[in-house]
Amino acid sequence: MQRRTVLKTLGLATAAQLTSARLLSQSSAMNAAMQGVDAFFNQVGYRPGDAKVATVRGAAPGQSNFRVRRAADNKVVFEGPLTAPQTDAASGDRVQQAVFTGLRDTGSFRVEFGGQGTFPLTISEHAYADALRITVRGYTGQRCGCAVDLGNGYHHPACHTNGAYGSSSGKSGTLTNHGGWHDAGDYGRYVVNSGITCGTLLWAWELYPQALHDLRLGIPKQHGNLPDYLEEVLWNLNWMVQLQEPDGGVFHKQTSDHFCAFILPQDDHLVSNVIGTGTAPYKSTAATGDFAAVMAIAARCYASYDGKLAAGFLAAARNAWTWAVAHPNVVFHNPSGVTTGEYGDNQVADELLWASAELWRTTGEPQYEQAFLKGLPSDLNGLRIDAPSWATVASMACWTYALAPAAGNAEIKAAIRQKTHEAAGQLMERSRNNGYANTLSEYDYIWGSNGVAGNQSLLLAMDHHFAPNHEAVDASLANLHYMLGRNCFGVSWVTGVGERPFMHPHHRPSAADNIVAPWPGLLSGGPNRRPGDPTAKTVPPGPPMRMWIDATEAYSMNEIAINWNAPLVFLLAFANTSASLG
Ligand SMILES: [Zn+2]
Repeated sequence: MQRRTVLKTLGLATAAQLTSARLLSQSSAMNAAMQGVDAFFNQVGYRPGDAKVATVRGAAPGQSNFRVRRAADNKVVFEGPLTAPQTDAASGDRVQQAVFTGLRDTGSFRVEFGGQGTFPLTISEHAYADALRITVRGYTGQRCGCAVDLGNGYHHPACHTNGAYGSSSGKSGTLTNHGGWHDAGDYGRYVVNSGITCGTLLWAWELYPQALHDLRLGIPKQHGNLPDYLEEVLWNLNWMVQLQEPDGGVFHKQTSDHFCAFILPQDDHLVSNVIGTGTAPYKSTAATGDFAAVMAIAARCYASYDGKLAAGFLAAARNAWTWAVAHPNVVFHNPSGVTTGEYGDNQVADELLWASAELWRTTGEPQYEQAFLKGLPSDLNGLRIDAPSWATVASMACWTYALAPAAGNAEIKAAIRQKTHEAAGQLMERSRNNGYANTLSEYDYIWGSNGVAGNQSLLLAMDHHFAPNHEAVDASLANLHYMLGRNCFGVSWVTGVGERPFMHPHHRPSAADNIVAPWPGLLSGGPNRRPGDPTAKTVPPGPPMRMWIDATEAYSMNEIAINWNAPLVFLLAFANTSASLG
């Protein structure tokens, strides 16, 4: 499956429609504060057994050692040499690294060199527990169609209750709001993006149940005895189910015809239309394939709690798969008059591949395995494994085939594991060579680069799952450290998490609620070497990691999205699982 870049098409309210108080300048102030000598590390902390590396910028010539002091008594508990200076290509920074992996004590510490100390750093077995809970609750904050209250003033009444079938759907009339999550900074709901999001979240449930089963989210319990995590995902699954037609096909999205202004969700009175392709068969292959995959996963995850619900998911998956097989190439483009996110994808064979593999994993039935095998290259040397994205899900298909309990084709399962290990090896090498130790290449700094980092961590976690190895764990967590503070801005790219979280996401509720801090648990898209909006284009051209600004209007650098949060949740669940220590 060839990797391809498909950018989400976004419109934007005019700058005048934005809440001017949120227009930014914090990033420049933050950058100024970080001038001079400083050390960048995961602001949430580290587990005792993990690799611990701070990136140091601006150490004086001749400064060769660093110390770590325990905050409680100021005692030096670790001392070591800084690595040789190197120029980090992604940021342009001259950096060194302070490696203190050998420090396994728990508590609060400060890294110190040249007489300067950092803010406290935590080492704890449960370092990531709060971050996991906050990022999962980030989805609760994205709920559509019900009153939401995350506490601390982050609340809104029920929104978008005025659903209807748009003319492009081939239908007419109204429909009740069946939930779903607002996709990103806007209030649309999109099946394709819901597909990779729910798929990733449910995979986390299957792989790391000990981290997720007892998570307490403080959400309304609407479905008896479901664990909170499955309850939250169900909110979006129920909406997806609503977009399936009796023939099995699934509509691409439900949004207003254009984006609303930067207002709170309950103030958006544009009609929320089910949107189709405009001509028969109206539904799209990508949406239907992703839907089938997710429903097949859901059938596995919910079976032990509610057999009827799980059976319904499986029937929906089968029906969608049959439709997608019969309609293998219905590509979606925004119909005339619609300008919300397109999630257009011209190559949709991988969505059907994923659906086939998930249905086989769930049922063991031969027609699904045959469809999966038919979609693979005849020469297994041509099998490609890379980090998934909303548009490229072939790796998900391959991994689920390798994870399936049924025997399957041993040679193909081995090839999938081997190709995963090779791809993981490339990411590990990048982590070793990058000054900030993440796994991104310079070309990975695209729109949603933090989502790319999260999905590369997912790939590394899969490699560790297939063949446990500490190098994969370290490289996977390296991106968590990058997203939570070990980057050239010294910022945590998750709202409400870490000592210095970013403050101005492109997110309507955060901009319109008159609360200074944004809604919690949301991951910024991150640096983008190709700025895609007027505010992003004000960032001076520079190395790719530098191409970011903490500005509400900069949607190509600072939007949030459910599909970027999903690999972050996956990664945090992995990090909260003791087995992932390797
Ligand atoms: Zn809504």
